[in-house]
Amino acid sequence: MPSTVREPYSIPAAYKALDPSECKREALVDAIQGDALVIGAGITGSTLAVHLCESGKSVVQLEAKVPGWGGSGRAFGSVVPCHKNSEEAIIRHYGKERGTKVIDALAHGPALVSELLNRHHIDAAFPGGGWAYGAHSKPFYKKLQKRAEYWQARDADVEYLNATEFSQVIGSDYYGGGLIDRRALSVNPYSYARGLFKTAHHLGAKQYTDTPAIAIEQKPNGAWLVATPEGSVECENVYFCTNAYTKGVWPGLEKGFVPVRGFGAITAAVDPTLLADILPENHFITDTRQLWSGIRKLPNGQIHLGVGGPAMGAKGKADLKVARQRLKDVYPAIGSVEWGESWSGWIAISTDQFPRILRLANGIWAAQGYNGRGIAMATLLGRELSLCQGDTERGDLVLPVEKKIPWVPFHPFSPVGAAAMIALYGIQDAMAVRNK
Ligand SMILES: Cc1cc2nc3c(=O)[nH]c(=O)nc-3n(C[C@H](O)[C@H](O)[C@H](O)COP(=O)(O)OP(=O)(O)OC[C@H]3O[C@@H](n4cnc5c(N)ncnc54)[C@H](O)[C@@H]3O)c2cc1C
Repeated sequence: MPSTVREPYSIPAAYKALDPSECKREALVDAIQGDALVIGAGITGSTLAVHLCESGKSVVQLEAKVPGWGGSGRAFGSVVPCHKNSEEAIIRHYGKERGTKVIDALAHGPALVSELLNRHHIDAAFPGGGWAYGAHSKPFYKKLQKRAEYWQARDADVEYLNATEFSQVIGSDYYGGGLIDRRALSVNPYSYARGLFKTAHHLGAKQYTDTPAIAIEQKPNGAWLVATPEGSVECENVYFCTNAYTKGVWPGLEKGFVPVRGFGAITAAVDPTLLADILPENHFITDTRQLWSGIRKLPNGQIHLGVGGPAMGAKGKADLKVARQRLKDVYPAIGSVEWGESWSGWIAISTDQFPRILRLANGIWAAQGYNGRGIAMATLLGRELSLCQGDTERGDLVLPVEKKIPWVPFHPFSPVGAAAMIALYGIQDAMAVRNK
């Protein structure tokens, strides 16, 4: 039965322990109707369901597994005010006017997440000083300095610190300098996704879990009929919020990106005296490496790392040897850590690394391709999708609405291309660190 992409791991136990509340619903066994059907209960789907309910729509939401099952329950949890692509690349891609709008919306991303958390009393944000973005080799010192100047000119709470200053903030002299971005947030993404799901429920959404959408057809009256294993939903508008976990319901939707597996790992509890010197102001670190570099402390005294591993296909485990060495490089006092758990999740990578809102037919919408920077983006695009209905061609959204799925060329062979690209990034990162 087509449902979601093959997912070999469960949601991280540490995230679940921080959010043990129940949000399982019954499976759908009837034929029901609504104004809008939201497929997927990650951050995109549940933000969208909240906004649609608030605008007075009758909303049905289907989730193939449980809320937060996809990337939203597995992410590293950094909410940053920018995307993968640089500000220059964003302007080149969208043009000056729209590009500036996109940059501003991204810069507001963490604040948008905070607003939702506060408005709906969702307890998902960790206390912390923001983002410590380290320069992992010399050419990046200047780059980050320029980035700080760019944002300071726009009154953002961002500053570049030299090696000594940066080391005081993160408790390590590993980096030759870095940027502190106090706009960023560190969250439990699973709690965030589930908090939004519960909010949509309170606002009146009819929700069904363990209920994959499996087929879709248009009725003679123009309405859409979506089948599930034991029921169906008829509605005017259908929103695919399935991102990297899309598989086989709308023809070709999964061909707009390459699903790549990202990994996370959490140490066993660390000695509190050692822990006090690590990230003393509770920033989260990432650095200018192209591959995984995230390190943060969880409130329960464990350390969480973004980790590499076999990225293509569902087999294989996180590369904990490399992760252990990276942690030791940055925090030598920690010695050889014990791991508590590791997991993986799928990330939707588009060829140009830009996300998209798609209108696939009248009343059929999708958002996808967040390229691993999806927490703020899903929040933004969930809101934007709530403004998309029927055959409306809205021009006032942050992202343009596109009608064609942006096919990845030679899609069946794309895992080979993506694996080669990831290997190349790994080599470039290692060489840069060696020459640091
Ligand atoms: C390891 C990892 C680390 C990451 N780190 C970060 C980070 O630090 N910061 C950041 O901003 N982003 C990060 N991301 C990316 C971010 O998690 C995602 O971009 C974002 O959560 C996507 O949200 P979503 O709601 O669009 O999709 P998802 O959360 O993937 O939700 C899609 C949902 O759709 C459901 N579904 C699929 N098909 C069907 C169907 N047919 N019927 C019903 N339901 C269906 C799935 O079960 C799933 O629950 C990371 C991702 C991973 C995997």
